Amino acid sequence: MSKPRVRFAPSPTGALHIGGLRTALYNYLFARKTGGAFILRIEDTDQTRYVPGAEDYILEALEWTGLTLDESPNVGGDCGPYRQSERKEMYGQFGHRLVENGWAYYAFDTEEELEAKRNEIEASGGTFSYNVKTRSSLRNSLTLSDAEVRDLLDSGAEFTIRLKCPADEIVYVEDIIRGRVEFQSDLLDDKVMLKSDGMPTYHLANVVDDYHMKITHVIRGEEWLPSTAHHVLLYRALGWEDKMPQFAHLPLILKPAPSSYINKKNVDVMTDKFTSEFFKKHPDYTFKNKDQVRQSIRGFLLDVNELSNRLQIKPKDKEDKIIIKEFLKSTLFGKLSKRDGDRLGFPVFPLEWNGANSDDSFTGFREVGFNPDALLNFLVFLGWNPGTDQEIFNMDELIDAFSLERIGKSGARFDYGKAKWFNQQYLINGNDEEMAEVLRPMFASKGWDVGDGEIVKVAGLFKERVDFLNQIPEKATFFFSDDFDYDEKNARKKWKSQHAEKNYALIDVLDTTSDFSPENLEKIIKGYIESEGLGFGDVMAPLRIAVSGVGGGPSLFEILSLLGREKTVERVKKGYAVFEALQSV
Ligand code: GLU
Repeated sequence: MSKPRVRFAPSPTGALHIGGLRTALYNYLFARKTGGAFILRIEDTDQTRYVPGAEDYILEALEWTGLTLDESPNVGGDCGPYRQSERKEMYGQFGHRLVENGWAYYAFDTEEELEAKRNEIEASGGTFSYNVKTRSSLRNSLTLSDAEVRDLLDSGAEFTIRLKCPADEIVYVEDIIRGRVEFQSDLLDDKVMLKSDGMPTYHLANVVDDYHMKITHVIRGEEWLPSTAHHVLLYRALGWEDKMPQFAHLPLILKPAPSSYINKKNVDVMTDKFTSEFFKKHPDYTFKNKDQVRQSIRGFLLDVNELSNRLQIKPKDKEDKIIIKEFLKSTLFGKLSKRDGDRLGFPVFPLEWNGANSDDSFTGFREVGFNPDALLNFLVFLGWNPGTDQEIFNMDELIDAFSLERIGKSGARFDYGKAKWFNQQYLINGNDEEMAEVLRPMFASKGWDVGDGEIVKVAGLFKERVDFLNQIPEKATFFFSDDFDYDEKNARKKWKSQHAEKNYALIDVLDTTSDFSPENLEKIIKGYIESEGLGFGDVMAPLRIAVSGVGGGPSLFEILSLLGREKTVERVKKGYAVFEALQSV
């Protein structure tokens, strides 16, 4: 059997959402697991939605996360070009072939004609769709005579080519994740295949390319499932049924549970946020004044655990209540959107994106400080599970454990706390030398001249105390600069004048200690405390504040050892004088 070939086929319409990155990851894992090829195809036929920089963004995100491509616009390959805009010429013939073999038709309806039809159908309570029922009353090559069609074509009249969905048939796909999914053909719309400018739509280009690129498995988001009915028909219509790939539609990534970020304490802040969003979305809203809307939103948010029930629309609800409920429903539930990141203060894009304005500019997981492997480890669990308790996987283990069959059908809830947890695990288990490499430029930009050994030690000391590596320089400032403040409140509490003399005497002990290793310091200091009959807190707390400014942090003995004798003694002397003085103010 030939090797699997899978493709990641993003449209360069803006920054790649993490849902897109997850699709890329699953394709990558499947390809690596099966010894197949992982292909990038840029689907840029819709020039109106093309955003400059988006393709570079996609490439950079894949590179940062290490999802290496076997074939792509840059890498090349036997099935190129890999950018649809460079394949334009080939799509037209397939559009026309569909018409010739009776699977599609020319539609000449103008915008106005379609609008009139839509109004007519909506007036009698229906919704308009160009389909098996309506096409017989519209202006197309099925209703016009051959001569009329020829005349129109000869005269250069604008037309589209629409797929002629069959009547009264169950179209189905055997989805690897969902099993058999059926579609009633009468309900399918006759989708446009070729637009009036001769450009293909997504559907035609996508199927033509999957066929020519010998794609064996289409692994993509659930939002494409409805289109799959048309794709199945297209394979049939073009005579490629025996080459149709297998489909696997991935579950949606859902917004975080509202109860994970709305609580009694922050309900007013959240209410203000939602109220201002509501008015942004409904600038012409006139039913109630702002304060009434605010009260209503607050009422819903207060009962956060019952929220999804309370937002169900009831027959007796008035129009204004429905508008508020609809707004909250779409803002709080459903698919994770790029706005959620802004609203809740976390990234939903792998890398930062600077769009044309601030509304289209977002931070990225990279910029927040995530390790790319940790991000992938987090993402892989949004829809897949290994069937065991193991959560931390390196790439080789993931490739080994991955299978499409273990991807679930139901939506996976995004949980930023969990993303941070993964990053912490990568820090805790990470290699100090490698982390030091990442820290080095951060330290350099602060103007600190830090030796190699010191950076490695600092990385080791702090890695369990931060969510992200980039939080270490700030936390470790006291190692490299004397310019830090004391936590005065804490110092006042911890410095006890009755022990001042004994604490000062410890300075002399430290000053005459030549072995400043953490182990020896621990022995000396603890020995001193015990022999003087003091409590650990009486001595170690002021010592810690004197050398680092704060009451918490890594092991005190490690800190002192790294600072060295001279610095330790200097800081302790200075600190104790300040603490003593604080007692008298
Ligand atoms: N261009 C589509 C997208 O942007 C590809 C969907 C598919 O994989 O077929 O997601």
